[in-house]
Amino acid sequence: MKAAVFHKPGHISVDNVEDPKLLDARDVILKVTSTAICGSDLHILNGAVPQKNELIMGHEFMGIVEEVGAEITNLKKGDRVVVPFPISCGTCFFCTHEASPACENSNYKHYGPNGDMLDEKGAALFGYTDLYGGYSGGQAEYVRVPYADISPRIVPEHLTDEQALFLTDIFPTGWSAIDWAQLKGGEVVAIFGSGPVGLMAQKAAWLNGAGRVIAIDPLDYRLEKAKAVNNVDILNPNKVDVIEAIREMTRGRGADVCVDAVGFEPERGFFDKVKASVNFEVGSMKVLDMCFKAVRRMGTVSIVGVYGSTYDNFPLHRIFDKGITIKQGQAPVLNYIDKLIELVNANKVVLDDIITHSLPLSEAEHGYAIFDKKEDDCVKVVLKP
Ligand code: NAD
Ligand code: ZN
Ligand code: ZN
Repeated sequence: MKAAVFHKPGHISVDNVEDPKLLDARDVILKVTSTAICGSDLHILNGAVPQKNELIMGHEFMGIVEEVGAEITNLKKGDRVVVPFPISCGTCFFCTHEASPACENSNYKHYGPNGDMLDEKGAALFGYTDLYGGYSGGQAEYVRVPYADISPRIVPEHLTDEQALFLTDIFPTGWSAIDWAQLKGGEVVAIFGSGPVGLMAQKAAWLNGAGRVIAIDPLDYRLEKAKAVNNVDILNPNKVDVIEAIREMTRGRGADVCVDAVGFEPERGFFDKVKASVNFEVGSMKVLDMCFKAVRRMGTVSIVGVYGSTYDNFPLHRIFDKGITIKQGQAPVLNYIDKLIELVNANKVVLDDIITHSLPLSEAEHGYAIFDKKEDDCVKVVLKP
């Protein structure tokens, strides 16, 4: 089959690889019909999240069940499903405590940044490096889905792939960022980053009762997208003092909630500097710093942007003085997915309005390039195997 394969930082290509096989009675093999490229994939492409071996990319995918393992009774050949990106066993301590992205059983190998074993087990993700279990991803014609009795959800027939695909990751991720802040109604929510995740957080903020939603991004075309699809206020940090502007909008108090939907932003050409080991000090935490400044006292900073390293100068004094609540991590997709499918099904939210490019899988390399370099007004790329 064909698949988008990571070879080394800066090099992902579409190759012929072996078809996946059932390895466990709880597996299914999915014929992928739609898959997307995520900002998280760019961290691998750019060498910011290390990967030594070749790996089939992709953790945002959906498709048709092709083969089922002996113990699978919830799915049958021909079912159309969307698959949450964290791989969860459904039975361990974490999976039974609404913390499936911390599943103890899915990740059989867990490596630290320099390839050394960490002393803690971590959860697994599809197509997201050996650090997260080394599972093949879904930017491929077929993918093996482990624990298929737990995560995949059948998609209502009348929904198109495009309407349902972002239930795998970015809609639940944007939703988590807002859910972590527990809005009561009328809050000002400032969302840093207006990429796919930021756009989904904007939608989630409105759905959870925000009174004002502010999008911050240095790219005007992404701000225009945000305004067009989500009717938000926009701020470009290259043009205005974002902290001042947010304070002005909030009688000097600051936003009730700040969301970091940017994460690790390596300098351009970062991976060229990466030699044998990855230098994790090269990233920036500009955005996080701005969140702590822009949030009001006793407010919440939700961090869904991915960070892959230790950072010095973490502003603990400001966080303490303002009494800021911080929440971050992988989105617990399984906690939300059924409710979110209902929202989509009832037409309470539109998700496919962020798609700017739909390409055949064979053009994945081009898709990665324009999404990474933010060319051709690219916001979200969907690949069709
Ligand atoms: P993206 O690269 O398309 O979007 C990032 C956006 O941030 C871009 O529009 C960029 O212009 C903007 N940006 C850069 N510097 C900025 C600054 N100083 N201020 C404001 N905006 C700035 O990626 P995406 O797909 O939207 O993903 C965003 C982040 O979310 C990534 O770090 C990704 O890894 C992470 N993510 C996390 C989860 C999770 O479960 N926590 C899930 C999916 C993605
Ligand atoms: Zn993703
Ligand atoms: Zn588990």
